[in-house]
Amino acid sequence: MILKNGDELSEDELTGLLQLEDEKKIESLYRRAYREKVKQVGKKVYFRGIIEFSNHCQKNCYYCGIRRDNQELTRFEMSREEVLESARWVYENGYGSLVLQSGEVQAEEYAEYIEGIISEIKEMSGGELGITLSLGEQNKSTYRRWFKAGAHRYLLRIETTSSDLYDELHPDDHGFQDRLDCLKDLQDIGYQTGTGVMIGLPGQTPADLAGDLKFFQRQGIDMIGMGPYVPHSGTPLASGDNLPEDLDEKNLDLSLKMVSLLRILIPDVNIAATTALQALHPRGREKALKAGANILMPVVTPQKYRDNYKLYENKPCIDEKAEDCRGCLKNRVKSIGEEIAYNEWGDPPRYFRRL
Ligand code: SAM
Ligand code: SF4
Repeated sequence: MILKNGDELSEDELTGLLQLEDEKKIESLYRRAYREKVKQVGKKVYFRGIIEFSNHCQKNCYYCGIRRDNQELTRFEMSREEVLESARWVYENGYGSLVLQSGEVQAEEYAEYIEGIISEIKEMSGGELGITLSLGEQNKSTYRRWFKAGAHRYLLRIETTSSDLYDELHPDDHGFQDRLDCLKDLQDIGYQTGTGVMIGLPGQTPADLAGDLKFFQRQGIDMIGMGPYVPHSGTPLASGDNLPEDLDEKNLDLSLKMVSLLRILIPDVNIAATTALQALHPRGREKALKAGANILMPVVTPQKYRDNYKLYENKPCIDEKAEDCRGCLKNRVKSIGEEIAYNEWGDPPRYFRRL
């Protein structure tokens, strides 16, 4: 199956492949994607230690557990020292690169705080640690400021490329065009730009998802972090009876197909096996690695904060420490015959081809 070059797949063909039901054909899709991944980056998995340093958020996305109006959690912000301590842990454990993630805050004080932290992480690691930011929409000068301070990758999910669906998932003041403009700003500045979507959202069709894949291809994106939509009971999207009972099963299946098709469509891109996959299946991330993903994002947030950074239900590793996750992931990666690429940034092959 899929005899033509992957990068020539049309939106209609992708839509059809996302609806495959024959187990043998699905397995063969995964195998083809895995072969492609091994050809591009070998049997290697790159780590990005993720520090979820604050759950303060000015936004109110209808799906997210840390949205502004959710009162059922304690808001926190890690101190500069705590962030640096986590960053040092990432460095000393050879993860090679980290992600700083938080809710969205647009304020001068916050921009300055982040700028300072980026510089200190660079200094602490002698410039060796790669820094990815996942801090939502900001103005171009703030993005530039953080880039100059030493961040080199930015992850901003488009969430869905259907502008109608985007509008249904967000209040009126979160415009789809603003999101697109931010992605353009990030690419203009020179960030390795990552984006992604949630998979299996209420109202989302296979054709929408095929459109998402084509968008990643058109935009020249370097890394994709896409994962299943997982409901959170404290959010408007999960209230009422608009969610089917077999949502988790369907979303896992769709997510794995999306990973495989993406690897076939854009062979030299970085693809994350996202944490949300593990909320749906104990081996969800390993399944994604075998379906074409090559990045894992181990949570290194101090344990005491994890319970208040629940974007969705059943978020894994809430009761664990960074040390526990390290050993656990090592075994998981080994179990599928792959190895962790320690002390490397893990830039995607397409980035080097562009240089
Ligand atoms: N605030 C920043 C932003 O929105 O870009 C970065 C942090 S935000 C928590 C990171 C990602 O979490 C979002 O881009 C969204 O795709 C994902 N997310 C939020 N709620 C989710 C849910 N219920 N299921 C799956 N992913 C979710
Ligand atoms: Fe805030 Fe990001 Fe959650 Fe939206 S997805 S509510 S911006 S943390």
